[in-house]
Amino acid sequence: MEQELNSLQALAGESLQSVSSNEQLEEFRIKFLGRKGEFTSIMKGLGKVPKDDKPRLGQMANAIKKEIESLYSEKRAALMATSTGAGSDSTIDLTLPGRKPETGKLHPVTQIMNEVCSIFESLGFSVAEGPDVEHDHYNFEALNIPAHHPARDMHDTFYVSDSILLRTHTSPMQARIMETQQPPLRVIAPGKVYRCDSDITHTPMFHQVEGFLVDKDVSFADLKGVLTIFTQKMFKKDLDLRFRPSFFPFTEPSAEVDIACVMCGGSGCRVCKRTGWLEILGAGMIDPEVFKMVGYDPEVYSGFAFGLGIERIAMLKYGIDDIRLYYENDLRFLSQF
Ligand SMILES: [Zn+2]
Repeated sequence: MEQELNSLQALAGESLQSVSSNEQLEEFRIKFLGRKGEFTSIMKGLGKVPKDDKPRLGQMANAIKKEIESLYSEKRAALMATSTGAGSDSTIDLTLPGRKPETGKLHPVTQIMNEVCSIFESLGFSVAEGPDVEHDHYNFEALNIPAHHPARDMHDTFYVSDSILLRTHTSPMQARIMETQQPPLRVIAPGKVYRCDSDITHTPMFHQVEGFLVDKDVSFADLKGVLTIFTQKMFKKDLDLRFRPSFFPFTEPSAEVDIACVMCGGSGCRVCKRTGWLEILGAGMIDPEVFKMVGYDPEVYSGFAFGLGIERIAMLKYGIDDIRLYYENDLRFLSQF
């Protein structure tokens, strides 16, 4: 045992010389001084030594333990001194600028969504939200798209069951709100929508804002006025609007709305495919059939509706050409906004 203690002392001194980091020092402490360490295991043998030798060996063990402990403390102090730079010059330079902690930001899609909502709120629209998992009735039937209507093919729907689906647009909110409220109505409904589609301009989940206004004597000119103010505020420019005839089952007449290209101002560039125009939303006057289904008298009330894609607006506003970048969660991309 005496021999074991002596060689442990020698070994500890030797290993401490190669210790150069706090991690290594901690390994040293566990190996030599820890509860399951080498010293403890030698001391377990103390019970078996002859009675006469016990006091002498006990004293010797204590002395060796103390020595290893003091070597350990010295090394720890030395390591601390080098890590804080106290060895050279320990004064703190108060004139150095502070380190700014990184702060988080809202996702660019959320930022644009909030901006769109606040523009329409400033025009007197209220914000309504509805379920992502929707009844076939609200997503299609109540919007004048009965079963087997060819317009259903445009939607690439994710079905949960025969009558339940992931909403393919935010338009179901039109029917949900008109069912329970009476005109005049000015509502926008932002939210997530889902379609089985994925490429550089489509993702299976994206964001839309549905807007509609119902009152007496609402005309297409009102629609054009609201959308003109919206695009001016959104792109901070006086941009021309162009309405092209289109078809949606729940509006009549319907239009695709283009704005003069935000990149080139209309002279033609890669983004607008040399046309000078960018498509930003679909709109139209609400079909009388939709009013009949919710019990409004189409002879008394008229209204318009529009739907715009948030990612599309964000891509145009920031000049981004691949929609999938929004969902890759690469901080180098996201922190630019
Ligand atoms: Zn252009």
